[in-house]
Amino acid sequence: MNLMPELKLHRPETLDEAVRLKATLSGARFVAGGTDLLVNLRRGLGEPADLIDLGAIADLASVRRVEGALWLGAGVTLDELAQHPEVLAHYPAVAQAALQVAGPNHRAAATLGGNLCQDTRCVFFNQSDWWRKGNGYCLKYKGDKCHVVVKSDRCYATYHGDVAPVLMALGAEAVIATPGTARRAKIAELYREDGAAHLALAPGEALAAVVLPAMDGWRAGYAKVRERDAVDFPLAGIAAALRRDNDRIGELRVAITGTNSAPLMVPTAELAGRAWDDAAAADLAAALLKIGNPLKTTVVGAKYRRRVMRTAARRLIDMLWNEAARSDGAARA
Ligand code: FAD
Ligand code: SF4
Repeated sequence: MNLMPELKLHRPETLDEAVRLKATLSGARFVAGGTDLLVNLRRGLGEPADLIDLGAIADLASVRRVEGALWLGAGVTLDELAQHPEVLAHYPAVAQAALQVAGPNHRAAATLGGNLCQDTRCVFFNQSDWWRKGNGYCLKYKGDKCHVVVKSDRCYATYHGDVAPVLMALGAEAVIATPGTARRAKIAELYREDGAAHLALAPGEALAAVVLPAMDGWRAGYAKVRERDAVDFPLAGIAAALRRDNDRIGELRVAITGTNSAPLMVPTAELAGRAWDDAAAADLAAALLKIGNPLKTTVVGAKYRRRVMRTAARRLIDMLWNEAARSDGAARA
């Protein structure tokens, strides 16, 4: 690990002050829990002259109900998210995903905003400076070649965040602060498929909150495949939200992580109105294979990640389907 680069730390007390600073200080970075950013900086992955610490902004750290929706501040820690009574009661899949991020010490500091905005990862990138130098660096930073897709003109580093796909399947929205105002966007619109520039946020924008809509009648879950069931990023992660209409799929939403440079929704509209059976599962598997694109960005092979992505999706939706049937039966009894 390198020493931290020389930098100036700013500690604004309002979000407006934070985004104004970010818009004016060229190359400045936000830092929240620091569990992603500081590790990268200690590896020489970036040398910002300014860090803007979001930790003193009290507004960012709240969870509140607003007209039937649940607002999660971007500064809420993953630990708080995993234990919050409103989250556990109405959005258990969010708590489930938060609880699977890293280890307990990370989750005590790591925030929702940092989780959503974490950098993409690659075995050729998340290495020490001397390792990367020995390999001629790569086009994501300091180099001109991609070691994963040779002759590529873009980086294929993978997004491995656990929480984003669940929020996407639940139809959540991001509240994005800009100097003097704010805008709302679907969570999927925070991202683009470019491993070196995967966030679609302008330099003067920050994630302020996530808004979860009411989800009565839905069941949702998250399945994460990783090497070790302890501290590990997803090799593939699947989130699903299902509304079951008797023996038919009312609506099914599926999102994936750990496979592409952004978390992505999988097209599932044509499954609505059908039973969840082998034929529907095969069609979903085909859609997953079309969208999911694991490459040599992790130490585990792409072929394995493609296979587990399909298997994890099948198991997760089987479980949601059966749970929905049981709760329908209980409601009728
Ligand atoms: P920070 O490190 O503070 O910030 C991360 C990025 O987000 C930075 O670029 C920062 O500028 C930006 N940012 C932060 N807040 C905002 C905001 N409000 N608006 C705009 N940009 C913002 N992550 C997983 O998802 N799953 C894992 O299993 C996992 N395992 C890990 C294991 C280890 C050993 C480590 C070191 C990290 C792991 N992580 C994992 C990554 C990281 O710990 C988490 O993603 C964490 O939630 C990041 O949150 P943070 O607040 O610490 O982010
Ligand atoms: Fe570098 Fe290619 Fe990996 Fe991107 S995908 S980090 S350019 S080696």
